[in-house]
Amino acid sequence: MVEHGQFIDGSWRTGGARASVEVIDPATETVVATVPAATAADLDEALQAADRSFPAWAARPATERAKILHDAASALRARRNDIAAILSREQGKPLAEAAGEVANAADIMDWFAEEARRAYGRIIPARAAGVSQQALREPVGPVAAFSPWNFPVSQAVRKMGAALAAGCTIIIKGPEEAPGAVCEVVRTLAEAGVPAGALNLVFGDPPAISAHLIPAPQIRKVSFTGSVAVGKQLAALAGQHMKRTTMELGGHAPVIVFDDVEPGKVATQLAAYKYRNGGQICISPTRFYVHEKAYDAFLEAFVAKAKSIRVGAGSEDIDMGPLATRRRVDAIDGLVSAAVQDGATLHAGGRRLNNVGYFYAPTVLGDVPAQSPIMNEEPFGPVALINRFEDEEDVIARANSTPYGLAGYAFTDSSRRAALVSARVRVGMMSINHLGLGPIETPFGGVGDSGHGREGGSEGLDAYLETKFVSHLAA
Ligand code: NAD
Repeated sequence: MVEHGQFIDGSWRTGGARASVEVIDPATETVVATVPAATAADLDEALQAADRSFPAWAARPATERAKILHDAASALRARRNDIAAILSREQGKPLAEAAGEVANAADIMDWFAEEARRAYGRIIPARAAGVSQQALREPVGPVAAFSPWNFPVSQAVRKMGAALAAGCTIIIKGPEEAPGAVCEVVRTLAEAGVPAGALNLVFGDPPAISAHLIPAPQIRKVSFTGSVAVGKQLAALAGQHMKRTTMELGGHAPVIVFDDVEPGKVATQLAAYKYRNGGQICISPTRFYVHEKAYDAFLEAFVAKAKSIRVGAGSEDIDMGPLATRRRVDAIDGLVSAAVQDGATLHAGGRRLNNVGYFYAPTVLGDVPAQSPIMNEEPFGPVALINRFEDEEDVIARANSTPYGLAGYAFTDSSRRAALVSARVRVGMMSINHLGLGPIETPFGGVGDSGHGREGGSEGLDAYLETKFVSHLAA
């Protein structure tokens, strides 16, 4: 049994009077590790450490911060397979996906290392002689971050990499469901030279930790990835204390498939993408709107691909692992059953698999009534909802019919239709004719209930920087 630790002020903390949280292998439902729950004293120590270490870390030349992040990225690449094995065992994803996630995390660190060197300010022409006007970019200060269980490594690195690159210190609450790989990333960063106190990792009772950290005067910025409901609570709390926020919340991505593309080819491509990570991805394509003329061919190919997906433990030669938690299986099963009762047609899956483990079959529902809960509530699992449309205006209205606004996809040969959907579908990210969302050099985030702020691109670094204006009359 592995005992993971918390990392506070440069040292690992385990055991003692702390409560212990069990980590379950979702393929076997056995306890494979434990992680200590942070006490109020742990959190206070992390706050003091993040606060104390901030001025020196912020003052380090950006090139030095960048070197540490580059070194950590190289070390992550070297340790990729070991970390992937931990990630796969605790979260359930196939080993190949886990190794891809660790490699992606290394790329994210490299990207923010480079961006740190380009946190340019600007000179603004003054109205009077002898005056210089500068807009300076400064790190916002100690950050409280909350990262999710679906991509335990890469989502944590989006926050840690950006904050550290910008010169912020950070306390990150990692996912209790799959903590081991995050611990290894933090170890790698510390070994690469991130000083004691600048990076702190805690686990425990999420509401207790957010209620302690967000109002604390040391914290200047809050970053959360998770559900809309929790995001709204944390944003409200941050607002009471006037803390800046980045909220990367859920989505319910529409996919519009026009009748001017090859439906079978597009369906096969989309189905392979849909079931990655068991569909537990905020930008996963979910509500498919397929033109009436292309519907049957699209559905047939999609169902064939869904039925060919091999489900099993992440360590085996499979395409899709178990879901990460029992609560996801229960939630999805409830939503799928309700949809069938509401009149949807079940074309594939729709049931739990195996007696042990959180396995759920790749599922395809067709002609799902618009008012069924699954059309409005993010399933966050291996479920595709495939509906028909005839009219362009109607499909855009239906794509925009939920409060979410994270990702959208469209497939068409027509540049007019491509322009129409890019302009009118209300999302933070739109991908047309391919699955092109997520590279770290591009802005990642949503509108509406899907949150605000961006976690990639140059915007990803901006989220951790303040602008200070300095007007100087030469003496
Ligand atoms: P949940 O709402 O219970 O928790 C979501 C996340 O928020 C978890 O990581 C949890 O640890 C954290 N959390 C919960 N309460 C918190 C609090 N008061 N303070 C700080 N953190 C808190 O849902 P779940 O069953 O874990 O996940 C399912 C839902 O979460 C999905 O519907 C999906 O929308 C969302 N989710 C989104 C992403 C994403 O990438 N945007 C990632 C994971 C989960």
